[in-house]
Amino acid sequence: MLQRKRQRTSRKTTEKSDFFDGLPDDLVVSILRKLSSSASYPSDFINILLTCKRLNRLGLHRFVLSKAGSKSLAVKATNWSDSAHRFLKNCINAGNIEACYTLGMIRFYCLKDRGSGASLMAKAANKSHAPALYSLAVIQFNGSGGSKTDKDLRAGVALCAQAAILGHVDALRELGHCLQDGYGVRQNINQGRRLLIQANARELASSLNSFVKRQSQQQNHHNQRRVNYQHYTYATGSGCPLLSDFGCNVPAPEGHPVNVFLKEWFESGMGELSQGLRLCSHNGCGRPETRAHEFRRCSVCGTVNYCSRGCQALDWKLRHKVECKPMERWLEEVGDGEGGDVGMEEVGGAEDLAIE
Ligand SMILES: [Zn+2]
Ligand SMILES: [Zn+2]
Repeated sequence: MLQRKRQRTSRKTTEKSDFFDGLPDDLVVSILRKLSSSASYPSDFINILLTCKRLNRLGLHRFVLSKAGSKSLAVKATNWSDSAHRFLKNCINAGNIEACYTLGMIRFYCLKDRGSGASLMAKAANKSHAPALYSLAVIQFNGSGGSKTDKDLRAGVALCAQAAILGHVDALRELGHCLQDGYGVRQNINQGRRLLIQANARELASSLNSFVKRQSQQQNHHNQRRVNYQHYTYATGSGCPLLSDFGCNVPAPEGHPVNVFLKEWFESGMGELSQGLRLCSHNGCGRPETRAHEFRRCSVCGTVNYCSRGCQALDWKLRHKVECKPMERWLEEVGDGEGGDVGMEEVGGAEDLAIE
């Protein structure tokens, strides 16, 4: 009887594998392509590759790798290895622009291979990849990887403008502040404000979108309570104060996975920051300084520093507004009411940046 049972099971397995073997390669490839572009985690895709020889072969098909999305490529910094590096290179060779940007950022900031990192980002930027255009703008604004004299504000503004046209929120915000302050571009306060409003509106839309998606996922799983924008607090407790003006408290929008990688790389100790170098204080950024005093710091408290005006303005609204105290106040807790606008100073420079 036991034998019969075993026979039945083995027949079942054979039937199953027959069915799979019967599927034509191009159909399997197109399913895998869909999976690689939509997977939420790299493991969702990698586990398929580990299933059997055939799936491994077809999963590494150019057609599949060329479409792998940013979340499929979002390897954890602590899992970085030669094979992860190779996987990204294979995706790039298959024509994947997202992989081009991801590996560009990792090489530039984490592996300190500035030349090849910047050229990979440029390759993605040439294909109108908005985050790549924006990241190159940040590099130009700061003269990252070079000296202070390598800063090219006009190039930064031009790159930012290209990313902003594509609707990149950080670029819109950055450009808005540049126009307001006349930084790298002729001052135009009204136009700057318009861009900042546009950035906020886009942010609102994407926050609500991902919030509703998350909420409906939760409901699907647990058939739980109904959507309540008004008093919703995210698991971390950090809502997005930008939106509180609209009576909503929804989670801050998700950043690009490579920003999470950068932050984790330095915070986990996988990569070490050279003496005196700091990370951008905005939580969702992760960019490190490439030379001492590269980033501007908050001139009121002097305890935080940012890679860009965009990061500074966003972090101010998200977090720093309630933490920032003038330096004297640390010694003497004398409140002077509203802190007002925070200026940013560049250490060793005379530029004073004010945010809206
Ligand atoms: Zn930053
Ligand atoms: Zn401050």
